[in-house]
Amino acid sequence: MPLPRTPGTALRQRLAELRGPDVPAKALDARALAALAANPGCKRRAILDGAGVNKATLASALGSPSGFGQSQFALARGNTFEARVKADGGAELLRLVHEKLDPGAVAPTEAEVPDLTATGPEGRTARTALALRDAHLARSESGAAGWTLLDHPMLALDVAGSPAFLEPDAVVVHPDGGWTVVEIKSFPMLDGSADPAKVGAAARQAAVYVLALEEVAARLTQDGTAPAPTVNHRVLLVCPKDFSNLPAASAVDVRKQRAVTGRQLSRLTRIEDIADTLPEGTCFAPDLPTAELTAAVESVPAEYAPECLSACELAFHCRDRSRAGGAVTSLGRSVRAELGALTTVDDVLAAAHGHSGDPSDPTVAALRRAAALRAEALNTPSVSLPSPELPSPEGAVCR
Ligand code: SF4
Repeated sequence: MPLPRTPGTALRQRLAELRGPDVPAKALDARALAALAANPGCKRRAILDGAGVNKATLASALGSPSGFGQSQFALARGNTFEARVKADGGAELLRLVHEKLDPGAVAPTEAEVPDLTATGPEGRTARTALALRDAHLARSESGAAGWTLLDHPMLALDVAGSPAFLEPDAVVVHPDGGWTVVEIKSFPMLDGSADPAKVGAAARQAAVYVLALEEVAARLTQDGTAPAPTVNHRVLLVCPKDFSNLPAASAVDVRKQRAVTGRQLSRLTRIEDIADTLPEGTCFAPDLPTAELTAAVESVPAEYAPECLSACELAFHCRDRSRAGGAVTSLGRSVRAELGALTTVDDVLAAAHGHSGDPSDPTVAALRRAAALRAEALNTPSVSLPSPELPSPEGAVCR
């Protein structure tokens, strides 16, 4: 069963050069992929992630450390909770899947838990695909109707021409052959509901796993061995119940997140295309002098937006650069969208004060009207109010 195509030797070598000699590649995880898909226009993030650069280390080397990462305490608590949920061959986890997603199926009194150990991510991915295929064939050919639990399977997803290896907490194969992603989180579920922002982030992450599982299902069909299995678009989110260590679960519909993430990932510029535009010798090794490292990072175009602050380790660096360059993107995507061809704050102010810009442009007209209204309100000299025949500011900047 072929895996997503791996980059050619030349590209792999080029990406290793970009990362720096002897710098290990940082694997992309589903959280990073979901964040990458949230800003598909940013070539800087695409090449850094594609080359396996550790962006947190890079941000520190640039003098703008990120505030990302979980505390050791939170990690230990999360691991303890996950072990508890999966104890006894995953009995409690399967009970929750049965109760929340498939109550009509036979109760999971026992389940198969295949061994997924193998060497390296490629080996683990192949082992997972084999286990899924075996479970699928057992149901479609011999009519077996049990449950199968894949504990920490490894899935591969093609991202801009390179495979990303992803590790969901669990995948469950139902008696009818359907596949369900399970996400186990350590934030609490209080009275049956959890923090919507955290649930949203978990749903985006799960959607990436769903996309990767769909690729495995599609490859099964290519083999012509059996009809494609169904990948459930409702995932199971398991969290501690009311600050206790007992699990509570909820089914989360990720259809929307799956559609958005799939569309955004398909828009990512291919990594080799970005690599080809970089100057010879560009390197992001964190031990380089700061000036050299800054020049390397700045050689790749970025698309900073305030949303980066919650999604990318380089956000403080890119925000400083964006502000220093007077880019209107630092004011937010909605403001940027309203300003049309005006890309810097200086351009906007010059247009508003009548020093530049085409007065028949609705954006320029709206800016001038806003500037005149402001001057009138503050009783300061400025441009006069535009005449009535000028285009209405509706749909432009100030409403
Ligand atoms: S912080 Fe910088 S590198 Fe990261 S997504 Fe935003 S613009 Fe791109």
